[in-house]
Amino acid sequence: MNLLEAAKNGIITDAMKEVAAAEGVEASVLLENIAEGRCVIPLNKNRPSKFVGIGKGLRTKVNASIGTSSDIIDPAAEVSKAIAAQRAGADTLMELSVGGDLDSIRKDVLSAVSLPVGSVPLYQAFKEAIEKYHDPNKMPEELLFDVLERQCADGISFMAVHCGINRLTIERLQRQGYRYGGLVSRGGSYMVGWMLSNNKENPLYEKFDRVVEILRKYDCVLSLGNGLRAGAIHDSLDRAQVQELLINCELADIGRKMGCQTMCEGPGHLPLDDIEANVKLQKRMSNDAPFYVLGPLTTDIGAGYDHISAAIGAAEAARYGADLICYVTPAEHLALPNEQDVVEGVRAARVAAHVGDMVKLGRKDRDRDMSKARRDLKWEEQFKLGLFGEKAREIRDSRAPMEADTCTMCGSFCAMDNVEAYFRESLKESPKK
Ligand code: SF4
Repeated sequence: MNLLEAAKNGIITDAMKEVAAAEGVEASVLLENIAEGRCVIPLNKNRPSKFVGIGKGLRTKVNASIGTSSDIIDPAAEVSKAIAAQRAGADTLMELSVGGDLDSIRKDVLSAVSLPVGSVPLYQAFKEAIEKYHDPNKMPEELLFDVLERQCADGISFMAVHCGINRLTIERLQRQGYRYGGLVSRGGSYMVGWMLSNNKENPLYEKFDRVVEILRKYDCVLSLGNGLRAGAIHDSLDRAQVQELLINCELADIGRKMGCQTMCEGPGHLPLDDIEANVKLQKRMSNDAPFYVLGPLTTDIGAGYDHISAAIGAAEAARYGADLICYVTPAEHLALPNEQDVVEGVRAARVAAHVGDMVKLGRKDRDRDMSKARRDLKWEEQFKLGLFGEKAREIRDSRAPMEADTCTMCGSFCAMDNVEAYFRESLKESPKK
């Protein structure tokens, strides 16, 4: 019995108990949300991993993606990045290698971290088709299902599968005219090419029940990939993107009814004022399936600082209900991220998730405690309460103040210290909050 089946039968599993305790929610509420498809816990019967809850009522989670490219193939570096992402506080990891021995890299990454690990099986299927037939469009349909099975058997806990790019989606794209940002999904673009070249329907859509059956068997979460996500602000929420989202939302319902944990992906580049609509549309059309957002990047001109552009969008998306944020690194649109890029990307996304959760979950206690510690110049407490205590300590120590209580920003002009002195007497009678 997999997790969703257990939930539908009213059985609270160890994974549910652990997630409920970590999130401070009732296990019975979590059970109901899993049973109704509003929450998922990525798992795999072949690989124990940390239990991470994603969905309604739970803290917004952060995913870090690593993986080789065809230009830079350094499996050891990818393992180091995976470990760095876990240390920096990522909740999940995606192994997205497209260069080198993919089976071997996946196994190395899976054994290096305890996080749930996700994948995009289309990359491997098309890579193997290119190697064998020298043409991605000659990929045999069976290879897709073989790769799904292989990656699940290795221990993948959530899988981005591009089922929603079908003939109808392509037709919609053709009717509206091409886009400012074209297609930015690697898997999506290969799948579109395959369908047009073979004049066939996407096998992952046509044989959706086979996709579900494989993932369901391993307890792996089906993440409905967003192949037509916008790669440009001016393509945000265009008809092709919404068409695919609509199909993915329909499939999310079918997948959950068939007993497979399911979530939807989106949306790529979106201006700030489109984000609320996008999240609400996904939630409404999918009956509250967890929403895994890539970005959203809120401007096209921030390269070098796209982790910040994406964090702004992610905070807004989380505020309106997005459940899992895929980080963006400073190398986005420019190069394969290095380890430092990975760490910066995770940290930026963690800030975004927290900012969103302050509104989505109404959790502001930690911020209030931090304000008090800051006002009272209690530095150790500040380091404890901050999201990045060690980083904060490092910066402060690198420019030590003359007065131990203050910092070198204002020194003897320290407003906190000065005001405290003025109010010291009156505060004796009227205690501070
Ligand atoms: S010196 Fe300035 S920045 Fe530093 S603690 Fe005091 S008021 Fe804050």
